[in-house]
Amino acid sequence: MQPPRSSRPLDAEDWALVEAARAVIDAATDAGPEEDGVHTVGAAVRAEDGRIFVGVNLYHFTGGPCAELVALATARAGGARTLTTIVAVGNHGRGPLAPCGRDRQVLADYHPGIRVIVPTEAGPLSVLIPELLPLAYQRSAPPGETAAPGEAPSRDA
Ligand SMILES: [Zn+2]
Repeated sequence: MQPPRSSRPLDAEDWALVEAARAVIDAATDAGPEEDGVHTVGAAVRAEDGRIFVGVNLYHFTGGPCAELVALATARAGGARTLTTIVAVGNHGRGPLAPCGRDRQVLADYHPGIRVIVPTEAGPLSVLIPELLPLAYQRSAPPGETAAPGEAPSRDA
């Protein structure tokens, strides 16, 4: 498969982000190798100012958040509003993981300029989120309102 046009190899800052995600899940996982657990994936996000925020997933059958979403909220709680790159890493050395569809939609809606580190056959690459969600669903705002990132969901969904 052709890599997306925006893809680029990881630089030192990207690898530091991968390492931050690896470190947080290795420290926090509750599952052994090949076991299911509540915390099996870590994520790290870099803010525009260079700060790194991390999170781990919180599995629950009702729809607990993926690690990426927890890291996004942690960044926001830390005052970071513009985020440049995100990565998720599996526990037990599984390396970078591609974000699920829900995460792609959240990232595209709230951080449309963010880069995502994804695994490929050629090793991990950094890709702009729009290329991970081609022909994406577009929320439409009611007449007279604008659908800005982070605003309430549309009424027609
Ligand atoms: Zn997910």
